[in-house]
Amino acid sequence: MTKENVTQMAKPEVSKIKTGSSLKVLSDSSSGLYEASLHQKERQFLPKQYWTIGTYRIFTKFLKSLRSTKYNQMSSSNILDKIQQRNPGETEFYQAVEEVYETVEKVIEQNPQYQKLKIFERMTEPERLIHFRVNWVDDNGEVQVNRGFRVQMNSAIGPYKGGLRFHPSVNASILKFLGFEQIFKNALTGLPMGGGKGGADFDPKGKSDGEVMRFCQSFMGELSKHIGNRLDIPAGDIGVGGREIGYMFGAYKKMRNEFTGVLTGKGQGWGGSLVRPEATGYGLVYFAQNMLAENNEALLGKICLVSGSGNVAQYAMKKILILGGKPVTASDSSGYIYDEEGINAEKLEFIMDLKNNRRGRISEYVEKYPSAVFTPADRSADHNPIWMHQADCAFPCATQNEINVADAHNLIKGGVKLLAEGANMPTTSDAINVLLDNGIAYAPGKASNAGGVATSGLEMVQNYSGIYWTRDEVDNKLKQIMKDIHDTCLSAAKQYGMEGNYQAGANIAGFVKVADAMIAQGVL
Ligand code: NAP
Repeated sequence: MTKENVTQMAKPEVSKIKTGSSLKVLSDSSSGLYEASLHQKERQFLPKQYWTIGTYRIFTKFLKSLRSTKYNQMSSSNILDKIQQRNPGETEFYQAVEEVYETVEKVIEQNPQYQKLKIFERMTEPERLIHFRVNWVDDNGEVQVNRGFRVQMNSAIGPYKGGLRFHPSVNASILKFLGFEQIFKNALTGLPMGGGKGGADFDPKGKSDGEVMRFCQSFMGELSKHIGNRLDIPAGDIGVGGREIGYMFGAYKKMRNEFTGVLTGKGQGWGGSLVRPEATGYGLVYFAQNMLAENNEALLGKICLVSGSGNVAQYAMKKILILGGKPVTASDSSGYIYDEEGINAEKLEFIMDLKNNRRGRISEYVEKYPSAVFTPADRSADHNPIWMHQADCAFPCATQNEINVADAHNLIKGGVKLLAEGANMPTTSDAINVLLDNGIAYAPGKASNAGGVATSGLEMVQNYSGIYWTRDEVDNKLKQIMKDIHDTCLSAAKQYGMEGNYQAGANIAGFVKVADAMIAQGVL
């Protein structure tokens, strides 16, 4: 199965499981439900080849009884069960929650206050979930109806902060997973920012500038009632770049009659920070540099697999090139290109123009550079061939669940020693375990892609103060923040006996900071 549909696979298949033959092997999408319904530790007891509807029923029945007897008090199963029951069908959200819980469980067990005050349970419930209709008129004069959302997840350490995503797959589960991740990511930056996320099931691809503008104005018509420069400050994410931020900022300014830093990622002539467009990709590579330095290594000469060709991928490739590495892949939802000679600065300029101005498809790269190869996406495959090439480092920068267990094995076979996530949750939980079990240096997105939101935080500070920093000043602050996040992850992991585990360190450090703030502020 391809990466794209991993996230969308579980929900429609529920009835198949209930009504199908008990001998039928689970389809890809049903096995997604299976994976999602079991806790990570439980999946290992029933190997994948035995995943039939019959074994699924018997095994889950057995597990249910085990969960309710063996671990009955404040057990992981108990807490996770409740969260799963309260959020039915929200597979991505549950995946993100489970991934964090399994690394902070020990911290919670050692701190009776966290248990008594139900800190984890409170963190997984959004403070506010706003869901609204967005009507707009397309170029043919036809009325279109979309869904808009803002998830205000946690404001314990600062105003809500997190991007807006415009993509047809957007729903409450995806935004809750992103908002939940954002809580920890923002805490790791060291800046006072709470967690939030939002967006719409609107697809800017193939739309005219006029259509995008009318959509953004309508979207902001409702969103403006719930945000503010000291309350909730959205930014961009998939499908929301400089153009969309501009239209939304203009709409907010006109509606509220005020010029204020209510969004970050603004243009540089009207309140935007230098280096914000580059920050997520640059920060990701700075983080990887710190990881490599732990083993006295550097990016110089390293072959790098990069997925995506949007904002994060573009600037990750740019920084890899600056540091002497060699990016050899880029992708979009239609497939990927492999350029064995390397995507050099001139070729990257071509990709940036293709994606940011001409809004074309990545396959056009091979028309311009025929020695490269384009492979179309195959939704029925159980792996993504982009991760099969020989390389030293991997930077998934497209979307969630783009690396599964088969991909993790392929990365290892191809010689990859370091994987740093530019996208949010691009690696499935089981794939992360494969990487960790094989000694791959793995950086979770909430740490390695935090440079974007950190620089958004720096944009907020500049907007509040009215004083603007030079490119070098912002870049140096970004570099320092990424180093601090890196070191914080390592020291938190060490403190809890998981030395070298960035995933555990990021979750623990982010969790403790927010948990302590929640305790200080009382039960709200
Ligand atoms: P973007 O500029 O919109 O680019 C997204 C890229 O990923 C495009 O190449 C897109 O291809 C591809 N993509 C999206 N959905 C896909 C799917 N289902 N299957 C395959 N390819 C897909 O977005 P971005 O800002 O670079 O964000 C990329 C990732 O980084 C996301 O996970 C985002 O949450 C995360 N992130 C972004 C920031 C930031 O500052 N922008 C910060 C932290 C984390 P198509 O054009 O064909 O859809």
